[in-house]
Amino acid sequence: MDCLFCKIIAGEIPGDIVYEDDKVLAFNDINPVAPYHILVVPKKHYESILDVNAEDMDIIAHIHKVINIIANEKGFAQNGFRIINNCGADGGQEVKHIHFHVLAGKKLPMYEK
Ligand code: IMP
Repeated sequence: MDCLFCKIIAGEIPGDIVYEDDKVLAFNDINPVAPYHILVVPKKHYESILDVNAEDMDIIAHIHKVINIIANEKGFAQNGFRIINNCGADGGQEVKHIHFHVLAGKKLPMYEK
């Protein structure tokens, strides 16, 4: 499968990894928009939340548990952060492997309404 994030997970493309376990990889975004901009992805390929079936939905809770761990390890838990999951064309999803952006380290601007 020609998927950029699957290649980072497989080690075929380098990633600036900040966390890894058997189910999840987290790495720094190559084009950060905040002092901390981390992408958290499941190792199993799903294009988007629409492809995560009911039996697999535990991975979404696990990803949020991992974000909690990272926020505490990196030290931005106390000041707060933002989690973003872009889904599909109107959501602005460019990489078709579900991922959660974690933005932190500054007062983030309100998103467009
Ligand atoms: P999306 O728009 O929600 O799909 O976000 C994709 C994100 O992946 C963007 O913030 C990109 O900067 C990021 N990105 C693209 N290629 C790489 C890479 O090779 N390493 C890390 N992040 C990447």
